[in-house]
Amino acid sequence: MEILVVGSVALDTVTTPFGDAREVLGGSATYFASSASFFAPVSVVAVVGEDFPMEALEFLRRREVDLTGLERRPGRTFRWRGEYGFALNEAKTLETQLNVFAEFHPRLPEPYREREVVFLANIDPDLQREVLTQVLSPRLVAADTMNFWIQGKPEALRQTLKQVQILIINDAEARMLAEEPNLVRAAKTILGWGPRSLIIKRGEYGALSFSDGGWFAAPALPLENVYDPTGAGDAFAGGFLGFLASTRNFDEANLRRAVIMGSVMASFAVEAFSLQRLQHLTYPEIESRYRQFKQLAHFEDL
Ligand code: AMP
Repeated sequence: MEILVVGSVALDTVTTPFGDAREVLGGSATYFASSASFFAPVSVVAVVGEDFPMEALEFLRRREVDLTGLERRPGRTFRWRGEYGFALNEAKTLETQLNVFAEFHPRLPEPYREREVVFLANIDPDLQREVLTQVLSPRLVAADTMNFWIQGKPEALRQTLKQVQILIINDAEARMLAEEPNLVRAAKTILGWGPRSLIIKRGEYGALSFSDGGWFAAPALPLENVYDPTGAGDAFAGGFLGFLASTRNFDEANLRRAVIMGSVMASFAVEAFSLQRLQHLTYPEIESRYRQFKQLAHFEDL
């Protein structure tokens, strides 16, 4: 199955306790596509400005990511500036410049309308829905969002959630969205708004999945080298949906395997700044880390 993603393609400026990166390649759609493209064909819908270095996306083209839906418009590219403390679990946004995204209304290239799996990556919830209405008959729609939209466009976000089957957000976002500090209660509230599954990412503490089929907890791989958590969530979503699209199976057991594959891809994303690790990743490395995850959570009963 082919995947369609709408999200940001960005220039990020990031500070972590281990260093800085200025105006480097980032964006929710970029991280998602570079991760998902290991598993399934990916088509991107996004916009960049005249200042965007298009050659930075060459590695995605080489991975056969379809960029015909990436428009280049007069103006400046979306920019995000953030920093992380020692805990690394939550980004502090210092600045968000929507720039060309402020006036963007995507028109999907005709072949994109046939896509069966859709990922509404972190972007304006109105844009997420604009894309969705142009897709003819999606079989699986998943979405992400963040505090910027939860606080800035709560009504639009609730509308989007009605059309989403799987919501993938982090723990702080789940609490903020549901206005409920307890994660189990927050999950119940959010599942009442439309999605049939909710995946809550908890950074170095792993991920939880809540759905009718029950709850599932995946660990995060204890890593020795973590440099930049930016994009971990999108890399997770890419591994998760890429796995589901490539196996064409959305049942509970496969959803759990997909959560592990998401965790595998997130574990690579954080090992270097920007997309450097995902850019140079190989499929055998992914397989080997998947096996490591299996061992990490395996135990024999008495
Ligand atoms: P993640 O760390 O997985 O949540 O995603 C980080 C990426 O999201 C960065 O590369 C940013 O460029 C992008 N981003 C940050 N804020 C926004 C926003 N308000 N809308 C869309 N993308 C954003």
